[in-house]
Amino acid sequence: MTPPHPRSLHDLGFVEIEGELRAAGVSAHHAKVLWRALHHDGELDLTSREDFLPPLKRWIANAVGEGKTFFLDAPEVADESHSSDGLTRKFLLRLRDGHSIETVLMAYNGRHTACVSTQVGCAMGCVFCATGQMGFVRHLRPGEIIAQVLHLRRILRATRPESRLRNLVLMGMGEPLHNYDAVMQALDTISSVRGASIGPSKISISTVGVVPGILRMAAEARPYRLAVSLHGSTEAERSALVPVSNKWDLTELIAACRTYGTRTGKRIFIEWTLIAGSNDSAETAARLAGLLRGIDAHINLIPLNPTSGFAGTPSTAGHAFQRILQAAGFPCTFRQHRGIDVAAGCGQLRAARTHGRSTPPSSSAGHSERSSGVLKLA
Ligand code: SF4
Repeated sequence: MTPPHPRSLHDLGFVEIEGELRAAGVSAHHAKVLWRALHHDGELDLTSREDFLPPLKRWIANAVGEGKTFFLDAPEVADESHSSDGLTRKFLLRLRDGHSIETVLMAYNGRHTACVSTQVGCAMGCVFCATGQMGFVRHLRPGEIIAQVLHLRRILRATRPESRLRNLVLMGMGEPLHNYDAVMQALDTISSVRGASIGPSKISISTVGVVPGILRMAAEARPYRLAVSLHGSTEAERSALVPVSNKWDLTELIAACRTYGTRTGKRIFIEWTLIAGSNDSAETAARLAGLLRGIDAHINLIPLNPTSGFAGTPSTAGHAFQRILQAAGFPCTFRQHRGIDVAAGCGQLRAARTHGRSTPPSSSAGHSERSSGVLKLA
């Protein structure tokens, strides 16, 4: 008989772990302690656990490890960069198949936020985004998304044991709603109280406007925050920046945002990257206010970050733009401009070594906390 294709233990939900134990003749009661070791402690050496009872230890010995039924997702740190302000740390993580992704840890007033990737590359092709310029390579599995959070929790435990990872944003490489099922499974695990326990209201999913995903989140009453990258107030303005708008146009997207708000009763966050001469005029701001009328929306204005391959210029009209939206009754704030010197700012991630201060992989966990910034634009 052919042995089953190895699976990541991190890909399994709690009920699946119970099922695997039961199928091997081990009481499902052991699932709780195993789950805690995996998803709370971020344990990478399950054979070392003294809190496991003999039946679970035997199952681990038989079933988990290279060449066995299950493996653990433990991406190798290929590179690490620290921003000069000490607030952003970016990690280049190498996956089992050799592909790389980027993950960022950010500090805000003593609180830490993880920004994780959901795909290798991205199919959406936004013109201002380094990830989009890479093209799409593949989706991440739930375990590969979870492993990024576990990695950052281990870093914090080693360097700032008094700090907790409180917030999570899916604004790294990839379009989360293009990888819907894996993302939702990962978030169920990450928000579980016996796991990393990041509350659903502290988790933000950022989409460039995948309408079916927005409607599915509404229909399934997913408890996470939703941020939609709009960037344009007319079809022409938006499609010049976000090619996916040719598939789901502005009218359809705004209708989906309205449905989401009505069905869930939740506020929606509108992300707007300000690009001089492209989408920063007073007329555009007024048109945006008109489009969003009746929607409980908070608008985040994002300064354009430099990426090679995009010639856009950062806007200087941001405050005037903001005042028009505020006068129309919308909360409107600027996102902090962070991590730029290590290419960890919005739209800058592309799984490449940076030219910031880097440290070798083996030394990453031993560094003092210098924390982080934010990533992409979608
Ligand atoms: S901005 Fe987001 S959706 Fe657009 S290409 Fe970049 S990663 Fe993909």
